Amino acid sequence: MPSQIDLHCHSTISDGLLAPADLVQYAAGKGVQVLALTDHDDVAGLAEAEAAAQAVGIAFIRGVEISVTWCRRTLHIVGLKVDPAYAPLYDGLKRIRDSRHVRAQGMANSLARAGIAGSLEGAYAHATRGGIISRSHFARWMVAQGYASDVRGVFKRFLVAGKPGYFEHKWADLEQALAWIIGSGGIPVLAHPGRYDLGRTRMLELLNEFRELGGKALEVVTGSHTADQYHEFARLARQFDLMASSGSDYHGPGMTYMEMGRLPALPEICTPVWHDWAETGEKH
Ligand code: AMP
Ligand code: MN
Ligand code: MN
Ligand code: MN
Repeated sequence: MPSQIDLHCHSTISDGLLAPADLVQYAAGKGVQVLALTDHDDVAGLAEAEAAAQAVGIAFIRGVEISVTWCRRTLHIVGLKVDPAYAPLYDGLKRIRDSRHVRAQGMANSLARAGIAGSLEGAYAHATRGGIISRSHFARWMVAQGYASDVRGVFKRFLVAGKPGYFEHKWADLEQALAWIIGSGGIPVLAHPGRYDLGRTRMLELLNEFRELGGKALEVVTGSHTADQYHEFARLARQFDLMASSGSDYHGPGMTYMEMGRLPALPEICTPVWHDWAETGEKH
């Protein structure tokens, strides 16, 4: 089995700092052998990344990370092995991206009320490839303006519920997002479940519903989880008969997430989501 499989990362198409081809080269240089590009709500980087992967000789998996609202909370669903041309997926992602522009205006208005002017233009200037506009772009502009010393610092004081720059937004339904992924031939993965702060009962409810709707895997190893959470979600994956995925959630040099090429192995009790993939040299 290849030692480094990374099934979650971002390019300049969403809120990563490296262009798709550069990201693939960077990953290969760090020893990644199987890579999925999973930009937020956009598949526009997949063709470029796939060509780059072919050129450097690593396996490439087409992915996406879809923003979802479930019980008034935001969840992220990664789709692996999606067909980017599948119309319901393509059109659904386009609607999410369009709605992000409306949300960005709302965020900018909220910041303006707190005395922070010019954030809309500022954030768009950081969205280099123009795929999506996200809180990351606002946060980078705010760092450049001196409102905090790093992006993490911005998210402590701004852009989150109850703070300036927050704007409640309705993303895709869980059911829709899963139908788009499954309809396109892809595998739905619940991204970084440890980040949702749901409480035990709600988490079990979510896992039940995710599975009922066709969800297939939990992201067990991710830059967002502690080592204890690897084991906690490995057990939950097993309990709910879900496979396990692994990804850095890399956003670029200096960004707060795990470095590429450093993912620890999945806990032994997991069935890897790639267990029957040709790309990983497993049985198929
Ligand atoms: P959005 O989808 O527009 O709400 O933006 C969410 C993105 O903001 C995430 O994918 C992360 O890249 C980034 N983000 C959210 N919270 C934090 C945080 N506390 N520190 C750094 N980046 C964050
Ligand atoms: Mn992001
Ligand atoms: Mn995410
Ligand atoms: Mn991500």
